[in-house]
Amino acid sequence: MARNIPLNRCRNIGIMAHIDAGKTTATERILFYTGITHRIGEVHEGTATMDYMEQEQERGITITSAATTCMWNNFRINIIDTPGHVDFTAEVERSLRVLDGAVAVFDSVSGVQPQTETVWRQGDKYKVPRICFVNKMDKNGADFEHVMDTIRKRLGAKPVALQIPIGAEANFKGVVDLIEMKAILWHDETMGAKYSVEEIPENLKKKAEAFRMQLIEVIAETDDVLLEKFLEGETPTKEELKAGIRQAVIDLKVFPVICGSAFKNKGVQTLLDAVVDYLPSPLDKPPVEGINPSHPDEKLYRKVDDSEPMSALVFKLINDPFGKLSFIRIYSGTLKTGDTIVNPRTGKTERIGRLVKMHANKREDITEVLAGDICACVGLKDLKTGDTLSDPHHAIALGAITFPEPVISVAIEPKTKADQEKMGIALSRLADEDPTFKVRTDEDSGQTIISGMGELHLEILVDRMKREHKVEANVGEPKVAFRETIRKAAEGEGKYIRQTGGSGNYGHAKVRIEPNEPGKGYEFVNDIKGGVVPKEYIKPID
Ligand code: GDP
Repeated sequence: MARNIPLNRCRNIGIMAHIDAGKTTATERILFYTGITHRIGEVHEGTATMDYMEQEQERGITITSAATTCMWNNFRINIIDTPGHVDFTAEVERSLRVLDGAVAVFDSVSGVQPQTETVWRQGDKYKVPRICFVNKMDKNGADFEHVMDTIRKRLGAKPVALQIPIGAEANFKGVVDLIEMKAILWHDETMGAKYSVEEIPENLKKKAEAFRMQLIEVIAETDDVLLEKFLEGETPTKEELKAGIRQAVIDLKVFPVICGSAFKNKGVQTLLDAVVDYLPSPLDKPPVEGINPSHPDEKLYRKVDDSEPMSALVFKLINDPFGKLSFIRIYSGTLKTGDTIVNPRTGKTERIGRLVKMHANKREDITEVLAGDICACVGLKDLKTGDTLSDPHHAIALGAITFPEPVISVAIEPKTKADQEKMGIALSRLADEDPTFKVRTDEDSGQTIISGMGELHLEILVDRMKREHKVEANVGEPKVAFRETIRKAAEGEGKYIRQTGGSGNYGHAKVRIEPNEPGKGYEFVNDIKGGVVPKEYIKPID
């Protein structure tokens, strides 16, 4: 099969947000407008396409990391779902590793929220270019410029507006496109499917001019040719400006900001345009780095090229009625059904039986998948998240995904004694799927102990065990290892040093704080309600 979509027309993206900012709604609308779903499932009705797990519907959060493929103007967009809850930051990290760009969704009233900050930092760590979508422009108190401000101040990033809103709150009608210098107005009666392109309203002309000037100035600072033109008083062409923005985004120098209301179907098409215009294709990324499994000191590099030896990374395992699905990103080469691959971690080879591409409402069987693309393999055994699938004749182990250590542990026992063995099997399956979930037996008590990233994380896994493996279990009181910086203390009073108060229960661990003002001694603080802090932030003071 020849490549039907050239690599420069592929986008592997994630959508990241603080919970409730509208990530699920935005994803839903994207799938709707790209023509794949034919009905818009509202989140509150529990029918959102990406949220297909029962628990997610009940809890209204997205915890799986499936990849869904859709098409927009002859571009193929693979959307890798990134969870929004703080307990799943490890899941976010693993999706960030395999995507090339992301859309950060903001609430138009709150702007940057705690979880936006967490995922933003993770985006920085994996050098993921991002565009910002200010959602909920129809909400009371919506303030586009305030959100830009919070991006600047709280994230320390350089946002640049590509649009300004026309109206706000109940009166939000559309946007001014600062590149085309046109107004885009969505038609309410068509559920936003239609929009018209018009002249900029008189009262916004001056503001639009000023914002466009700012845009040109910011982009000129990142591009010598544009800067020269700018200094000579010349205006760049639209094409030059767009190319300049694209490069600046890929280099992580600026973060373009656009806006809309996913719920009211305004701004979704322009968001998709921005994704294809400004987010990188797999070709914009450097060759992937790995090691030679037989000579761990030897570094190997693979180009995003169909004819290179095949290498792929497993970023998500899901057990579903279809069988065991392993989501992979192909970094180099071509993977075909019937091929034999080696897993350098185990040294074992396996045959690829079946490959599928996941669309919002169907699974498509495919016979091959090319460099830069994402798909799922059905039925592979002995895999863990983070494993490499490699051409057996040119083995490479791609840099493993690193996961934080679990922070909370509980003892678990089956409700029925006879289920002990079944529980063991169920837990070990779940642990294979989720590297931040660990299972061990306590040496002294003989109890089974499970550990994860937070109470909700463990609750969901226990719930899944009941649903998927038919094992009901009782769990004990959670024990906390490390919890995050206490917000107040971190921002105002001092630095979180370490936990001092024994094991402590969730929410009440004692930690020691180093005040910012020297000479004040150390403080102890109770009631930790933050998320998870990586161990490297915790510095013993004696
Ligand atoms: P997620 O947690 O980020 O996935 O957020 P959801 O998509 O579940 O949205 C959270 C809530 O905000 C839901 O009740 C949505 O209906 C609502 N919502 C999403 N987008 C908009 C929007 O553009 N405007 C308004 N007013 N509400 C929205």
